[in-house]
Amino acid sequence: MSQLESTDRLKAMIADSDYIVFFGGAGVSTESGIPDFRSQDGLYSQKYKYPPETMLSAGFFRSNAGEFFEFYRNKLIYPDVKPNKAHLKLAELERLGKLKAVVTQNIDGLHQLAGSETVLELHGSVLRNFCLKCRKSFGIETVTGSEGVPECDCGGTIKPDVVLFGEGLNPDTVESAAEHISRADMLIVGGTSLNVYPAAGLLRYYRGTRLVLINMDATPYDDRANLIIRGKIGETLGNI
Ligand code: NAD
Repeated sequence: MSQLESTDRLKAMIADSDYIVFFGGAGVSTESGIPDFRSQDGLYSQKYKYPPETMLSAGFFRSNAGEFFEFYRNKLIYPDVKPNKAHLKLAELERLGKLKAVVTQNIDGLHQLAGSETVLELHGSVLRNFCLKCRKSFGIETVTGSEGVPECDCGGTIKPDVVLFGEGLNPDTVESAAEHISRADMLIVGGTSLNVYPAAGLLRYYRGTRLVLINMDATPYDDRANLIIRGKIGETLGNI
């Protein structure tokens, strides 16, 4: 199928659907300039003292908080990024009443910046931070505007509200995402390798016949898709 034919098919599926859910990952934000993990230019192809999964783990945060924050500030925080055509189109579909929820593995807050309202952040957000001792909340500037390990007035360590490797997902967020996906008449999955569990396992809740995968590379779920678009998600959604 040509790119034009698949875009037409995608448009027709959207026109026929009333409960669209989008499930996405780091690839949704690469066209905004944030690298993903598993693409050729992704974080996993770069060389560090420890593998990224180690540096972004709960155990590493506890034992090497200084090194954690150095890596985190350099590689996971992009203060001046803007939403791209994918984020903007999804927000537009929500305003039109077509799309009911964005379920994202991203932690960059770009869906909300684009205007999406129902955004289920499975892995949290770099924009929220909290004191591990007194639970006080802090914005992103507490992390970007400090050096070393950021500390609360009470002396507690401030931790980003992101789910580190080895930590569990928020059960309410997972439940809500599963509920939306099980009610969806169309599920658009994009910009994700579908390698990160338990997030990727949420796809099993979809029972409809309009599963669309928009991704640069193949995924383990390709054989279940009703439409596969191998291309950039911002360009693809920007054309509908
Ligand atoms: P991943 O890196 O494992 O996979 C990204 C996928 O997106 C790849 O299959 C790649 O081919 C595809 N891709 C890249 N650019 C694309 C584009 N423009 N259009 C279409 N497809 C594109 O990412 P993942 O599956 O989300 O899992 C990685 C984890 O890393 C997630 O848990 C996420 O929280 C985290 N992460 C988040 C960000 C962010 O918030 N922007 C950035 C890096 C990593």
